[in-house]
Amino acid sequence: MMNPKDIDGVKQLLASPKKIVIIPHRNPDGDAMGSTLGLYHFLKQKGHDPLVMIPNEAPDFLAWLPSFDTVKVFEKEPEAATKLLEAAELVFTLDFNVLSRTGDQMEAVLQNLKVPFIMIDHHQKPGDYALHTFSDTSFGSTCEMIYHFIVAMGEKSLIDKTIATCLYTGIVTDSGSFRYPLTTGTTHRVVADFIDLGIDNTAIHSLLFDNHSHNRILILARALQNMKVLPAYKTSYTSLSQEELNSFGHAKGDTEGIVNYGLSMKDIAFTAFFTENKDEGIIKISFRSKGNFDVNQYAREHFSGGGHINAAGGKSTESLEATIQKFIATLAHTKID
Ligand code: 5GP
Ligand code: MN
Repeated sequence: MMNPKDIDGVKQLLASPKKIVIIPHRNPDGDAMGSTLGLYHFLKQKGHDPLVMIPNEAPDFLAWLPSFDTVKVFEKEPEAATKLLEAAELVFTLDFNVLSRTGDQMEAVLQNLKVPFIMIDHHQKPGDYALHTFSDTSFGSTCEMIYHFIVAMGEKSLIDKTIATCLYTGIVTDSGSFRYPLTTGTTHRVVADFIDLGIDNTAIHSLLFDNHSHNRILILARALQNMKVLPAYKTSYTSLSQEELNSFGHAKGDTEGIVNYGLSMKDIAFTAFFTENKDEGIIKISFRSKGNFDVNQYAREHFSGGGHINAAGGKSTESLEATIQKFIATLAHTKID
């Protein structure tokens, strides 16, 4: 995965201090924020002038991450953000495979930049926009890849508690707390290093998972009430309309993790979670599966999305009801085992 030629190329690019912008995907999650901030702290230690720029706001439950307060949000101030991007000498894109995952406006700015890009990502079908591409779907998280990237750069000794805290976050969130199939012995050895460096793993778990508002619990309760089960297809699904979300005064991140409940029933191998977003005029869909059913493939085929074998996302511009009807219709010719 860490091709020595590309590592040498990156070493050359990083041989002198540079203004570097680090970018994750839109709607950044734990892996997106953990990997970008982990790399940020590494590049700072190396004497560079890095900046994490996220396409849109990150959820509050990640706001405790070290140096989260330095992060710029493109969609909040597109003009100032564009200037910062144009001033960059080097761009890292982390935790996504195609520039469109940053959103239309930011993508257009990125397309016009003439500086080298470096991609580090674990999604399928990487685009070819980067000078150096580190893409490997066998990794459960981009955060774990950043660890191996730093090691391959010969800089393992620079990994400190701050970097480890950031990287641990994405490893935990993208592995479902070490339960998804891409969790390997190596994943645990990387985490063992982090614990030896003094990260407070118990506190990080609490900050990530025991940090909900009462509203979020009410939103979860409604999603659970809305849950439907289709035993013939080993499938469950649930949804939240914009009206339901508004009635609970929802905040960004409140729907995070809810999709997993649909998969927590026995004899269910496939679940979908539909959330209506009237601002963006779309239905956002999360897909999860157990076993062999490839939701990445499914999301690509039916809902203009993608992701990984057991976790993917997609969207629809039809109404919530029409989107759910379309989903149900696909099941008749989808093999779920
Ligand atoms: P989530 O359901 O948590 O939003 O996403 C699950 C996984 O699928 C994540 O790895 C995410 O990056 C990926 N994903 C979500 N939405 C999309 C999408 O629209 N396109 C692609 N290619 N991947 C997505
Ligand atoms: Mn990820």
